[in-house]
Amino acid sequence: MKAKTMIVNMMGMLGIVFLTLSANGCAKDEASALSDDNAAAKAAMIDYTITDLFDATSQTLIDSLPDDSISQTESDILIFMREEELLAQDVYTALSALYTKPIFRNITKSEAVHTEAIKALLDKYLIADPAVNHVAGVFVNTDLQNLYTLLVAKGSVSLMEGLIVGATIEDLDIYDLKRLGAETDNADILLVFANLERGSRNHLRSFYANIVLYKGVYVPQYLSQEEFDGIVNTPHEFGSASGSCFRN
Ligand code: ZN
Ligand code: ZN
Repeated sequence: MKAKTMIVNMMGMLGIVFLTLSANGCAKDEASALSDDNAAAKAAMIDYTITDLFDATSQTLIDSLPDDSISQTESDILIFMREEELLAQDVYTALSALYTKPIFRNITKSEAVHTEAIKALLDKYLIADPAVNHVAGVFVNTDLQNLYTLLVAKGSVSLMEGLIVGATIEDLDIYDLKRLGAETDNADILLVFANLERGSRNHLRSFYANIVLYKGVYVPQYLSQEEFDGIVNTPHEFGSASGSCFRN
């Protein structure tokens, strides 16, 4: 991490603004294809039959950005997020075995891409991967280990509880990406976090759409109600961080 000068902070902010603008610019055409009156689009959202193409570009994108120094804090953040994304993948895998609803297995694929994007950052900065010999459901971080056990137990009770667990994971993921993203000014980390956050917003929209469909209730546990409403009341986002559209 560089010294927290005003210039660096402004550059970081501009980077985020750029990503947001390019995401929105890309979203325009495709978002209209996902309008609420489109039954096919609704079905795609409910089942999350939306291909995550982030993996096709992430490694190239990450490598194309300049190397920056990395602080202990940033290193710890990457190690944590590597396992948090794996937690999402492993919980959804466990729930996929219990429920036939495609949303769990479809979002599992997306989480595999998310955790690999963090792995690409670990590799770039020569940080040891906490998941080098990962076994599904086993985590180095004890908080994540406890959370995994809790969420799988809760999600196993019923399909509705499984969907609520899905919303909970995405709620937490967005909260952590925002919170931890504020601790770094490295362009490559910010780029990956922005893409993961957008993917997580899309996942949250789909889990919540299912909860509403089955007449359930979800109250945000990490994000504020205002932040949560701002996400679930807006359409699926198609975005780009490289100038070409990709989905997650
Ligand atoms: Zn994720
Ligand atoms: Zn997710």
